[in-house]
Amino acid sequence: MEKMNKQEINRRKFLKVLSVGTATSTAALYGCSPKENYSKESGNPGNVPVGEMTYRTHPSTGDKVSILGYGCMRWPTIKDSDGDIDQEMVNKLVDYALEHGVNYFDTSPAYCKGQSEHATGIALSRYPRDKYLIATKLSNFSPDTWSREASIAMFHNSLKELQVDYIDYLLLHSVGMGGMESFKNRYLDNGILDFLIEERKAGRIRNLGFSYHGDVEVYDYLLSRHEEIKWDFVQIQLNYVDWKHAKEVNTRNTDAEYLYEELSKRNIPAIIMEPLLGGRLSNVPDHIVARLKQRRPTESVASWAFRFAGSPENVLTVLSGMTYMEHLQDNIRTYSPLVPLTDEDKDFLEETAQLMLKYPTVPCNDCKYCMPCPYGIDIPAVLLHYNKCVNEGNVPKNQQDENYRKARRAYLIGYDRSVPRLRQANHCIGCSQCNPLCPQGIDIPKELHRIDNFVEQLKQETL
Ligand code: SF4
Ligand code: SF4
Repeated sequence: MEKMNKQEINRRKFLKVLSVGTATSTAALYGCSPKENYSKESGNPGNVPVGEMTYRTHPSTGDKVSILGYGCMRWPTIKDSDGDIDQEMVNKLVDYALEHGVNYFDTSPAYCKGQSEHATGIALSRYPRDKYLIATKLSNFSPDTWSREASIAMFHNSLKELQVDYIDYLLLHSVGMGGMESFKNRYLDNGILDFLIEERKAGRIRNLGFSYHGDVEVYDYLLSRHEEIKWDFVQIQLNYVDWKHAKEVNTRNTDAEYLYEELSKRNIPAIIMEPLLGGRLSNVPDHIVARLKQRRPTESVASWAFRFAGSPENVLTVLSGMTYMEHLQDNIRTYSPLVPLTDEDKDFLEETAQLMLKYPTVPCNDCKYCMPCPYGIDIPAVLLHYNKCVNEGNVPKNQQDENYRKARRAYLIGYDRSVPRLRQANHCIGCSQCNPLCPQGIDIPKELHRIDNFVEQLKQETL
């Protein structure tokens, strides 16, 4: 009973943050990341260096920030729970990270069903306040949280959950999603941007910035006001595919090269999210693994993406949502110290990006912002299973394909294992409620129907 109550509280709290409380969903809600979205292939299993982490210095505050930042969106959860965070494991990960020089922790009221700030606060508050830098966000995505009162309450709640009296890095969360109209509602018309600027003056926010997804008009608008607002940092999506090919991955995205250069021109430090493109740059097709391994045999596949993201000098930190100790260790190795890419390495990764584009994966990064679906569809699980099969060569086009039988079987059996039948794509009614919530701009019902047609075709074909 006690457990039930706790779960119910978590559920309500999460629904309130994202304001989906009126949805008639009976779908299970999501925790952090109980599933693997990052290859366990972790390269050199040797020592994890202590005291060799690369740091970048913030140009105005002088903060020394570890180039590896801890993304707290995917904290481990307790097995067979309703997504409850495994606090003991979180504490261990935080201890290990701090011991190995990681000092930047990025969370949000929206992460882990609303539990991330609380868990992060418990873990970090065991250390002196000057030993870590905490970043959190004003995640007022939904109309229910647009009012001045609700947004201010969200900010005060972040201070409470994190057990701090100031936030080192406060972000306007996912600006660009929903275009200018949404931005005006969330931050301008309610006076919240002015409120946050005042909080910075009062010292309760040390650095004010925003994370950007989606409509570049909003990005350009916010940078055009830099002289007046003085952004202390901006968080952008950057990886070796998005650098020049973001539009090919998703027509709504903007090339990371443009985003980064616009910040550099203004001397605004960049914080990097999605260095692995939602895990897709660690779970790459086998022949790309071979290509990367041939060049640096002892390094992990993921290390290439982290070196790419950390190499530009104006990058302050690179975020990684590390659920497992081996991911944390691998990333610490990559950045202790960071060996910046050479020009040849950059050309090599650009060629690799072009090879990656030949694989028609869906740009889902498993953020779960689209969840819960009121009709119970496990949207990310459907999309991630499809991506996994594309990478493993298990999306057969027709019966003439050499390995059709094996691939068909792998797809269908894996689908039932990864996604309970009632939560599969065939139950999507195409209501489109999920679309505005997706920071990657995926047309979710369209992709689900495409995948469902493919599954139906596989089921019907006789061998
Ligand atoms: S379009 Fe489909 S997946 Fe999206 S909310 Fe509606 S039923 Fe769920
Ligand atoms: S479909 Fe979009 S919102 Fe949903 S998990 Fe994937 S990237 Fe996130």
